[in-house]
Amino acid sequence: MANSKKRLATNVAGAFFVDSTCIDCDTCRQLAPETFKELGDYSSVFCQPGTEAQEQAALRALVACPTGSIGCEKAFDAKAALAQFPMLIEGEVYYCGFNSEKSYGANSYFVKHADGNWLIDSPRSTAHLLKAFELMGGIKYIFLTHRDDVADANEFAEHFKAERIIHRDELSALPEAEIVIETNEHEDFSADFRIICVPGHTKGHCLLLYKNKYLFSGDHLHFDRDSRHLAAFPDHCWYSWQEQSASMSRLAVHSFEWVLSGHGQSVCQSRDQNRVQLLELAETMKSIKR
Ligand code: SF4
Repeated sequence: MANSKKRLATNVAGAFFVDSTCIDCDTCRQLAPETFKELGDYSSVFCQPGTEAQEQAALRALVACPTGSIGCEKAFDAKAALAQFPMLIEGEVYYCGFNSEKSYGANSYFVKHADGNWLIDSPRSTAHLLKAFELMGGIKYIFLTHRDDVADANEFAEHFKAERIIHRDELSALPEAEIVIETNEHEDFSADFRIICVPGHTKGHCLLLYKNKYLFSGDHLHFDRDSRHLAAFPDHCWYSWQEQSASMSRLAVHSFEWVLSGHGQSVCQSRDQNRVQLLELAETMKSIKR
């Protein structure tokens, strides 16, 4: 829980605030954009929640914040706030919440599936999430997009006897993985799940495409709220920007509606919009020298 003595001066007056332990991960701005925004090197409350919906969104941000940097100085129902996670996105796809500082606050997701449930990247291992996943039928597979977002995957794997999946070039972050992705292109894991290798952000970064509709995009691709366009992070490319741009072009052959990112905003837009924006992004990336 945040410390009111460390309350940032950039917060507006009122119950909700961010303290100076914030790592500027963007999670709160994604979950409650009407309350939080980036001011300097931190997030701050720029407008106190004015409606019940805004307050619930701010409480979701409080729960999801990886560093416990969001405070609320009025009484609230903590159990109800926790119970909002995992949060249904659509169909059988959920956002886990409880982002982990170990992955710099990356988002993680859960897919409920008749052949066994999937966890995509790892949230914090908390008693609440373990119980919630138990009630949803456990976890069969844990898919790690890349080395940075492993977080508490081993604890979830141990608890649920789940199989961990990661590319061979990311294996040093998860040597215990039961299933090692060997392809550098794409392969169908099963009828509903396709693994797509997109080297660039890291050498063995992979995406997971579910039902040709939901693309779990890790740190390869996200939606930029300002430009309203698919985007990549040039300043956070650890392996090869040139390869990431080539991977972006190749990704356009796959069709999807949702981009569910690790870092950055997620989005649902038409398949055509995604394809056109991906190709434009790949061209733009080529012109950025790194
Ligand atoms: S979620 Fe927490 S750590 Fe991330 S930007 Fe918001 S206050 Fe900072």
